[in-house]
Amino acid sequence: MAIEVDVAVLGGGPGGYTAAIRAAQLGKRTAIIEMDKLGGTCLHKGCIPSKSLLRSAEVYATLLKASTYGIDVEENAVTVNFDRVQNRKEQTVEQLHGGLQSLMAKHGITIVKGKGRIIGPSIFSPRAGTVAVELADGEMESVVSKHLIIATGSRPRQISGLEADGKLILTSDDALVMEKLPASILIVGGGVIGVEWASLLNDFGVEVTIVEAADRILPTEDEDISREMTRLFRKRGVQIVTGASVRPDTYTGSSEGVSITAGSAEGDIQLTAACMLVSVGRVPNTEGLGLENTDIRTENGFISTNASYQTNERHIYAIGDVIGGVQLAHAAAHEGLAAVDHLNGGKPETVAAHRIPRCVYSRPEIASVGYTERQAKEKGIQTKTAKLPFGAIGKAIVAGETEGFVKVIADADTNDIVGVHIIGLHATDLIAEATLAQLLDATPWEIGQSIHPHPTLSEALGEAMLALDGLSTAF
Ligand SMILES: Cc1cc2nc3c(=O)[nH]c(=O)nc-3n(C[C@H](O)[C@H](O)[C@H](O)COP(=O)(O)OP(=O)(O)OC[C@H]3O[C@@H](n4cnc5c(N)ncnc54)[C@H](O)[C@@H]3O)c2cc1C
Repeated sequence: MAIEVDVAVLGGGPGGYTAAIRAAQLGKRTAIIEMDKLGGTCLHKGCIPSKSLLRSAEVYATLLKASTYGIDVEENAVTVNFDRVQNRKEQTVEQLHGGLQSLMAKHGITIVKGKGRIIGPSIFSPRAGTVAVELADGEMESVVSKHLIIATGSRPRQISGLEADGKLILTSDDALVMEKLPASILIVGGGVIGVEWASLLNDFGVEVTIVEAADRILPTEDEDISREMTRLFRKRGVQIVTGASVRPDTYTGSSEGVSITAGSAEGDIQLTAACMLVSVGRVPNTEGLGLENTDIRTENGFISTNASYQTNERHIYAIGDVIGGVQLAHAAAHEGLAAVDHLNGGKPETVAAHRIPRCVYSRPEIASVGYTERQAKEKGIQTKTAKLPFGAIGKAIVAGETEGFVKVIADADTNDIVGVHIIGLHATDLIAEATLAQLLDATPWEIGQSIHPHPTLSEALGEAMLALDGLSTAF
């Protein structure tokens, strides 16, 4: 007997489970098909475990400079117990995993545990879209739905010839379950994941080298942000090699560690470390999904959709990492909500990719929304910019964390906020105000005029907005 529902969701990550909750709230009979654990990459291999490790690393780094705060700690009294660091991470994930399971039960969502494959027209339905699920015990189950949402996510991209072995060559999945800290690591790829790992491992005392093919780390962020992060990393002893690509044919790995040559315009560079983390992007999970049984199209492997997240088969939607674009948990969740709104007869507003906030949870944190200065110029926007250093903000001085700044880019003609780029303490929380400002079409003056409590880091954003017109009273 098949399971019959109104909405079936293939994949239980943040895109899938958020869509399922909303569908259930709208009174739809809903099922999630998940082959691993509810929560997906974000909860088990991404956002949450990495942030837990980053928090432990931050606590360690803070304790090492405890004397700055007038706290005397005996020399060598502060040490990393990596087993307990990992245990805390596991507990954090388990706590959230438990909460998620309760949430599913509360909303009456059926969970079908197994690997799903979409089948074509069958005895169950004249349309493609029924999901055949291979259950853990080898039995098959069919899930028949009026609407299907594909939310199967992504996995780490590997470099041909440098495939991960989990010991010498790691993906971010492997790095999360490391049993002990290496003495040194070579991070191939200086994007968000590479920079987060560089920050946390450096804080734990690991010797870190980043090699990045582009001319700067975080190449999609504003250039001022990349420059500041590079400066701060170098001050902490992180080696950064840019404009250089590793050559897999030169790789050697042994119990002594790894060695590889990177080619650059200036010539070859020899890189060695105890192990290597490859963080060069993500590939969509579409293999074995049965897309060939449907009219669904893909582009570069990612499922193509229209602005309402419908695939070429209009009753089948796709959201999250599997469609590419902004590969972040909150983007996946937002797309899930929009897809459900649409299949329920609504007309969800499309959020442009640049309006989705982007965060890097390094130390210090980085967050941005809107265009970079270069993107704004490429779009022919006449810009005016202001940069407010955290050194001018009382709360940052109290915290002893004055590095970084808030950079605001506005349209010189219309006075619209074009982009906000923050590097500094709690940047990832501060960006929410800028995201709201863009959603509400607020002007910089309106944000500056809104009263920011003192002393808070939020003053930095308000003052940066006023600084656009030379009206900041903070510096
Ligand atoms: C190291 C790391 C750190 C990250 N940190 C952040 C962060 O701090 N903030 C942020 O916003 N984003 C972060 N991300 C990105 C974030 O994890 C993803 O954007 C997000 O998880 C995508 O959600 P999703 O629902 O599209 O897919 P996923 O979370 O990947 O979930 C897809 C689910 O589908 C299941 N599945 C796949 N195929 C099938 C099948 N055939 N049958 C049944 N089930 C299937 C998988 O098992 C998985 O559970 C991070 C990613 C990584 C790797």
